[in-house]
Amino acid sequence: MTPEHFRAPERRTAPTPGPVLVLAPHADDEVIGCGGTLALHADRGDAVVVLIAFDGAAANVDGGSSDDRFVKERILEAVEGGRHLAGEGRGIEYEFWGLEEGHVAEDEDLDRAARRIERLLNEVRPGTLYAPWYGDAHVDHHSLAQATARALELYAKPVEAWGYEVWSAHQPDMVLDISEAYPRKLHALACHQTQMQGGQLLHRVAGLSAWRSMMFGGKARHAEAFQRFVPAEAEFYRVLATPVDGTEGSAA
Ligand SMILES: [Zn+2]
Repeated sequence: MTPEHFRAPERRTAPTPGPVLVLAPHADDEVIGCGGTLALHADRGDAVVVLIAFDGAAANVDGGSSDDRFVKERILEAVEGGRHLAGEGRGIEYEFWGLEEGHVAEDEDLDRAARRIERLLNEVRPGTLYAPWYGDAHVDHHSLAQATARALELYAKPVEAWGYEVWSAHQPDMVLDISEAYPRKLHALACHQTQMQGGQLLHRVAGLSAWRSMMFGGKARHAEAFQRFVPAEAEFYRVLATPVDGTEGSAA
């Protein structure tokens, strides 16, 4: 086997210019999966809109505040994180749907979400879309990826669509050097105080971004990895995730 038999991802040092739509299951996923990339978009003045689909209440485990207060706190954390990514005077716009987490989505749920995403696509008219990749092993990430696939089929206009990683690694089609934006990514992540778990979150994200720099052969310290989001491929993962004998998938 010769080196040309290996599929190496495209290496980029800047994202594609133009408006951006990010679909994130929970507040902080947009930072973990593509925060450095969003910072680079914002540097260039690209309009960035982030949708946070689920309410994030399931992480309210220590009982220190009501679910309502906890959800509001997570919204504030996300918006503050966006300020750190974009820098002074620039904004990342956030939208929150507040859906309840941890359920395996039925077909009609996915269709309803797909129509909402399609409306958002028509409003933002993004040149680039970022969404969780369809093999990400978390039930809410899986649902949003499936809804995204259906939305892209409804939308049917050209958009560069990429899947980002949070819970599971994919085989990337593109890696982006985020070394220069990495401090902002960490600052944005640090805004998510409810998700810190004693610093574990920063530790894990540092590992992921360092590992993904490998494709740059020493020319980058930190990178984010993306797989082309191809709606037709999402169905394969839908079948894989179908519950067997009434058992449900991961609800972590
Ligand atoms: Zn998540």
